[in-house]
Amino acid sequence: MNIAHLLRRSAMLHGRQPAVLHGDQVLWTYETLGARTAALAAWLRTQCGVVPGDRVAIYAANAPEYLEALHAIVWAGAVSVPVNYKLHAKELAYVLADSGARVVLASQALAPAALKAGALESGLLVFGSEVYRAAVSHAPMDVCDRAPQDVASLFYTSGTTGRPKGVMQTHRNLLAMTACYFTDVDDIAPGDAMVYAAPLSHGAGLYNYAQVLRGGRHVVPLSGGFEPAELVQLAARVRQLTLFAAPTMVHRLVDHVRATGADGSGFKTIIYGGGPMYADDLRTALDTLGNRFAQIYGQGESPMTITALSRAQLADRDHPRWAERMASVGVAQSLVDVRVVDAAGHSLPAGETGEVVVRGDTVMPGYWNNLEATAQTLRDGWLYTGDMGSLDGDGFLTLKDRSKDVIISGGSNIYPREVEEVLLQHPQVREVAVVGQRDAEWGEVVVAFLVAGDSGPVEDAVLDALCLEYIARFKRPKEYRWVEALPKNSYGKVLKTELRELG
Ligand code: AMP
Repeated sequence: MNIAHLLRRSAMLHGRQPAVLHGDQVLWTYETLGARTAALAAWLRTQCGVVPGDRVAIYAANAPEYLEALHAIVWAGAVSVPVNYKLHAKELAYVLADSGARVVLASQALAPAALKAGALESGLLVFGSEVYRAAVSHAPMDVCDRAPQDVASLFYTSGTTGRPKGVMQTHRNLLAMTACYFTDVDDIAPGDAMVYAAPLSHGAGLYNYAQVLRGGRHVVPLSGGFEPAELVQLAARVRQLTLFAAPTMVHRLVDHVRATGADGSGFKTIIYGGGPMYADDLRTALDTLGNRFAQIYGQGESPMTITALSRAQLADRDHPRWAERMASVGVAQSLVDVRVVDAAGHSLPAGETGEVVVRGDTVMPGYWNNLEATAQTLRDGWLYTGDMGSLDGDGFLTLKDRSKDVIISGGSNIYPREVEEVLLQHPQVREVAVVGQRDAEWGEVVVAFLVAGDSGPVEDAVLDALCLEYIARFKRPKEYRWVEALPKNSYGKVLKTELRELG
């Protein structure tokens, strides 16, 4: 079994269908994509000395070649290591060394950085180069046979704390994830397309497999990234477009559509996930773009597959618990078990908050070369996610925060997200992150870091009053600090560790 079988199958079944578009222009059909992939795989094996199980890194912004690179690596029986192109040179050097990548596939723009980070000239294959052109027209090889438990990809965690860890994602993990997409997230119909505005090195790239399986179109924006105006135009031209986006991207897209009055009917589905979506933002998104949204909650360790909140559930506004449901991350995806447990690992009843744990075929077998972190994270057959949450009687999971972000003040637990939701209700609060800061008297106190909207910051008293209206007095921030921007990692997640250090 090899996840590359999906492309081989589609190259045969959907050979004449468009596969990869650059902007709105078709670049390759499935037959061509399959042929280029088989050729590149053969090149990796015969010219670069790659043997099954070897790691091959990809260091590039989103580009059409990214897709064939991802597939060629597994086609050759090797392990893909997609590296976020925004990583700092030192982080890249760490990932290349830790994974022991034999070959690095890089874009032209990033090739010098890859060399600086330790990639060998002889092991560097640059997209679009003469050598690359030879590689994608080499005599093809057939898909290398792999066992379901063999590693297909090393997925480096985004590292909001400490060094990134290489999550081993097996062929079985990726296939189970793909199966869940159709049942729990969305179906893919003939003519559908997926646009890669978020980095292919992360969740967006993982969703390419579902699209490949159904012979859907893959759209790489000319900008290679997230530009709201470009995306809206692409949706209008390409139609039936699905976007996977972080909540911050959804926010910006919705702002753009509201400001320009653009028509969003070209979007089929907007899947959001990867971080908390605040209720207020979601309401605006639904009002602006209609019932096109679905949410997923996952982490590299159970890629894209812990829970999902479907389009139908989000659209069911008449449901008596709709407000709670839309603030949740939905229900367990169909091939995983999800529980909420206490510190001793015992299941908690509905309504109680504990750590979210997951079990199933999507769960990684461990971290690459890191037995200690593996033992901490995989216990008694369950993945300990580090996320705190509670299940309701119908199985809807509401996430509170990462366990390490919970603030303990005067002996009481405060979940920052709850405070953030309240502060975001103020129209002049564009972004907010609430953290705990050490305090001699209370242990920790609540501090809110805020980014102001166009008309600037508001008085502390106004925010105090807002908090007192919705949450207990002890949860109210002791300090409001206005900043130009919140520190974020390369995937746009707020680095609360850095904020805590500012104290
Ligand atoms: P990563 O492994 O980099 O994808 O990060 C996964 C983490 O992002 C999870 O453990 C959660 O803390 C957070 N996350 C992912 N999806 C969601 C979501 N839908 N809502 C809230 N947080 C999320």
